[in-house]
Amino acid sequence: MTATNPDSHSGLETGSGLTSPVEAIRDEILKRRRFLITSHARPDGDSIGSQLAMAFALDALGKEVRIVNADAAPDHYQDFPGMDRIEIATRVERPDVDAVIVMECSELGRTGVAGLEHQFLVNIDHHAGNQMYGAVNWHDEASAACGEMVFDVIQALGVELTEEIATHIYLAILTDTGSFHHSNITPRTFDICRQCVEAGVTPAVMARRVFDSNSFGKLKLIGALLDDMELADEGRLAVLHLDDDMLAATGSTNNDTEGLINLPLTAREIQAVVFFKVTQTGEVRVSMRSKYDVDVRKVASEFDGGGHKNAAGFTVSGPLEAVQAGIVQRLVGAIAAGLQARP
Ligand code: 5GP
Ligand code: MN
Repeated sequence: MTATNPDSHSGLETGSGLTSPVEAIRDEILKRRRFLITSHARPDGDSIGSQLAMAFALDALGKEVRIVNADAAPDHYQDFPGMDRIEIATRVERPDVDAVIVMECSELGRTGVAGLEHQFLVNIDHHAGNQMYGAVNWHDEASAACGEMVFDVIQALGVELTEEIATHIYLAILTDTGSFHHSNITPRTFDICRQCVEAGVTPAVMARRVFDSNSFGKLKLIGALLDDMELADEGRLAVLHLDDDMLAATGSTNNDTEGLINLPLTAREIQAVVFFKVTQTGEVRVSMRSKYDVDVRKVASEFDGGGHKNAAGFTVSGPLEAVQAGIVQRLVGAIAAGLQARP
């Protein structure tokens, strides 16, 4: 397996010539002692897995590590190793560290953590449109999960793939590929997963922990959401709505909403899903998922959001009635373009 992808944004000039981003990150980590690790607000499995795998690797090198996230992770991640190490804060006063490792963030602002601006930033990300805001940057859109990139960094550091580290790398990949559904999966994805399994990860246990840990409230919420689902574009687009009343009526919480957006995609005809969540402040949080070549990131980028071809999102000021039609119209266009591209 090659450590770096040739398509990655490459290289930093060093005294000895051109260094790959993964080598540059290794070198900067090895010469520093105290680290702060962060990732995007509302963390998902990839951000949790990438951060904790990196934290355990830095532990193995005898480094000091803090992890700071703006929001707590969903409940079903709380039993994973090291979760108690994550501090929840939206500002860090005088971090007093030698470097901040930012993962999964196309811009520093995606962290939702203020106070990191003037630190030595190491930027590791696989989202399109990364702003290259770090002192060292590794941006590889070809990686199916940021966890794949962290795997390469850990290997470059010469740290053994322990069961704890492997658990978090596998968690990152399992969740960010939509349980091996998205179109950015490569042989490398499986090669890394194979090594994780050899290091002690049990795929069945991971799948049950991540996907089969629903509360009863969540099951009821699934029923209510699907009951309320609207179809557009002759059944090719599913439109879901969620608000706090629905959570209350089904006995569920915001914590129970992860993954719900994927449900309509299990219908053969449906090519894309848009999920509208009206927040307490009246803003509308928009999440989108798609199959094959239907590019929802393009739609997100028109609204200052981002993500990947098959999973993207953004936030707009409401009201919902004013924005929904325009978003649906753009998605119908994305579906037409994606279907045309399909062989
Ligand atoms: P989700 O729908 O699960 O919130 O996000 C799907 C993907 O889109 C994730 O990779 C996430 O990082 C990205 N994403 C979601 N919302 C935003 C946003 O507002 N801005 C950017 N840049 N990316 C987003
Ligand atoms: Mn990711």
